[in-house]
Amino acid sequence: MVTFFKNRSVFEVVIIVIISLSTIFARGQINHNQLREKMIREQLMARQITDPSTLKAMRLVPRHEFVPPDMQVYAYSDSPLPIGLKQTISQPYIVGYMTQILKLKDNFRVLEIGTGSGYQAAVLGQIVDSVFTIEIIEELALRAKNKLSELGYNNIQVKAGDGYLGWPEKGPFDAIIVTAGAEEIPNALQHQLKEGGRMIIPVGPHNGVRQLVLITKKQGKFKTKEVMAVRFVPLTRTRN
Ligand code: SAH
Repeated sequence: MVTFFKNRSVFEVVIIVIISLSTIFARGQINHNQLREKMIREQLMARQITDPSTLKAMRLVPRHEFVPPDMQVYAYSDSPLPIGLKQTISQPYIVGYMTQILKLKDNFRVLEIGTGSGYQAAVLGQIVDSVFTIEIIEELALRAKNKLSELGYNNIQVKAGDGYLGWPEKGPFDAIIVTAGAEEIPNALQHQLKEGGRMIIPVGPHNGVRQLVLITKKQGKFKTKEVMAVRFVPLTRTRN
């Protein structure tokens, strides 16, 4: 290394350093983009995630920005990842599946319970007009809020609090997504759905396998359908 620089001018050394740094930087960028494309092909398109707006959104949102630095190399792998405070960011396939099933339109208002890293909210924010998301762990809510504004997602409102009762002041919503496992369907949430609205929520026993339940509201009545077995961190409640 020392002999390499010995007979070169300062100017040459500076140029070499700049070129090396930009190569390293460009490689990092290319990797994330390439890994994200691979995720889209192998984890989503190969498994019946075909909705163009879901695929487009997940192609655009930099998932690696939403995981802790030491997890970034795994950001596009086929699994959930720890985000600190005993919480996780969902597996890409689950994010794709839950997003697709909501049949989102660009003029929708969407409520999310369980902001976590903010990744799912960002995916929703790419597709719809406005997203409202609630996170019970204040530190995570704050982190997600900062990350989302740093990345320029200005159609997403993050609130720290218990999402069990929804966000009635901002409702009713065209779609509701709950990204923590509930023991039963929270009544208040269903009632914040608009006519024709859809809600997706993991329901089942604490710490066990739950069912993703799709709820649709038609002519004022709720229809429920179990669509997939899943594992999720629990939906917790604040003690009153
Ligand atoms: N959607 C997230 C992952 C969610 S993990 C993402 O894209 O990263 C589930 C999250 O739900 C956790 O952060 C947990 O703290 C939160 N949570 C659990 N119970 C909650 C409640 N009652 N209200 C709001 N958030 C809750």
